[in-house]
Amino acid sequence: MQAMKDAGRLEPYLAWLTFAVFRGGEVLIAGMFWGALPNWMVITWWAIVAVSGSCADLLTDTLFPKGPGVAAPVWPFWFNAVCFGTAAFFLYVPGNLGYQGVLNVSLLCVAALMALQSVGGAPRLVAAVVLVPTSLRYLAEGDRIHILLGLGGIMISAGLAAVAHQAKQMLEEQRRLRERAERAVEAVASVNLAKARFFAAASHDLRQPVHAIGLYAEFLRGLQVQQPQQRQALEGIRQAWHSLDKLLGEVLDLTKLDANAMQPQFQSVDVSALLRDVAQQHAAAAQNRQIALVVIGGDRLRYVRADPLMLQRAVANVLTNAIKFSPEGSRIAMLSRRSRLDGRDAWRIQIRDAGPGIAESEQERIFDEFIQTQNTARQSAQGFGLGLAIVKRFCAVMGGAIQVHSRPGRGTTMNIILASAPVGEVAVRDPEMVAPAASLTRIGAGDDQILLVEDDPHVAGGMSLLMNEWGFNVCHAESAVEALQLEHQATLALCDVRMPGEMSGIDLAIELRTRGMRVMLMSGETESALREQARAESLTLLVKPVAPAALHDALKTLWMQDGQG
Ligand code: ADP
Repeated sequence: MQAMKDAGRLEPYLAWLTFAVFRGGEVLIAGMFWGALPNWMVITWWAIVAVSGSCADLLTDTLFPKGPGVAAPVWPFWFNAVCFGTAAFFLYVPGNLGYQGVLNVSLLCVAALMALQSVGGAPRLVAAVVLVPTSLRYLAEGDRIHILLGLGGIMISAGLAAVAHQAKQMLEEQRRLRERAERAVEAVASVNLAKARFFAAASHDLRQPVHAIGLYAEFLRGLQVQQPQQRQALEGIRQAWHSLDKLLGEVLDLTKLDANAMQPQFQSVDVSALLRDVAQQHAAAAQNRQIALVVIGGDRLRYVRADPLMLQRAVANVLTNAIKFSPEGSRIAMLSRRSRLDGRDAWRIQIRDAGPGIAESEQERIFDEFIQTQNTARQSAQGFGLGLAIVKRFCAVMGGAIQVHSRPGRGTTMNIILASAPVGEVAVRDPEMVAPAASLTRIGAGDDQILLVEDDPHVAGGMSLLMNEWGFNVCHAESAVEALQLEHQATLALCDVRMPGEMSGIDLAIELRTRGMRVMLMSGETESALREQARAESLTLLVKPVAPAALHDALKTLWMQDGQG
């Protein structure tokens, strides 16, 4: 409501300007009649319009807005208009058409100004009152010229009143529409935020079952199923799990980014090292398609201010697309160039491919969710159209940008632009990004004890089966208290972070480590704060759903440690 009221009010400086124009105009009009009429008449007219006009401006909300919910009085405007109208008596020079013409023009100007003055609450009809008394006096004169002048004045008054009224209605309609649009935008934003928050909160519960399915499928695969149909069904489950796992991860990332639940942990990131790492991780995929991955200037020291994991994932997403869309035998170049970002020094990380390119009309759309220009059949193996949407959000939360330069048939260059940073702490590789081992061979000797602290029975069941296969004897605890009672039986421990009871998985892991165990964490939550905490405690953190191969790899590393963590 306040917005609506404010919308009808002049800017403060304009309100004071109008105040000054009116007061000056009143002096001017009075001055024009000085000498043509007795002085007391001119002074009286000037005094009543100046006082009533000033009061109208002061008493209403023209100059000083009233508080919310306080209605400004309207009568001062009417009173001021009636005072102007007294010109029909005080400024009327009988028998002098010249002066009467001047009076007409003056009153017309005042009436027009009053009609146009878009002061909150001012009834624009008051403009008519200014002219009507003088027009009536013309009519009373009775001769042809005066009758025409009088009729003209009344017609102009009526016209002004009608136009002013219509303008006021239009303004109010526009205000109503704008208010409705603002309310709709607010409603959509709050629904979106609520939805994003819901997904972010549900993320842990969604990840648990997906994680468990992957573990059970991997266990079944290890059983060497003989029947071709069973093998086919199992492979189908694995493929479907893979798609679900990827889609879930991407959707949850998007919603978390939208709900501001994923905040970057800024560091100085060495761009060249990061490009080399990402290229190495994708070397096999590129080689399969005989694509040459070239990192240009990979030995130069260039630092950007970024979250290392977010940047790594952004570059990896863009590179995956470049490999996917490049023709066999072509070349992909990865490099960095100097750039500017919001007036500051920046680095532009470029990934150039020789693929089919992207039409100009599609170049903005590809950053929207679920947009794929090359996968009209929507095969899940081709991705879900979320990769670039995530990259765009990663870049945005890191204060950077992503740009595409492409022409159909001429390849694509993706640019990730980030502010440059001083040489600083070099990013630690996140265990999530470690490439999984190729084959899931036996690790333990069969009698190696591992303590699994996990409150979800499905996840615990799947993990136990797999870890048995890999040569471990699993003792399962559902809570920290239970784990502390069982601890003496095992040398390795794998602790879920979110657990029932007072003690968190991190506290438990630290406690078990002080008792001489080798410990690792896993969690269905992906908050960067949790990652940071684990990193600060030098604890490996696996994020659910953990691919069996990644679990195998991490367990092997833990098993080979010297026992002191
Ligand atoms: P997806 O995971 O399905 O590839 P993305 O969001 O990463 O989803 O990409 C969206 C779409 O943008 C792709 O389906 C493709 O049409 C287009 N695209 C992205 N990168 C390239 C590229 N390097 N060359 C050609 N098209 C591309």
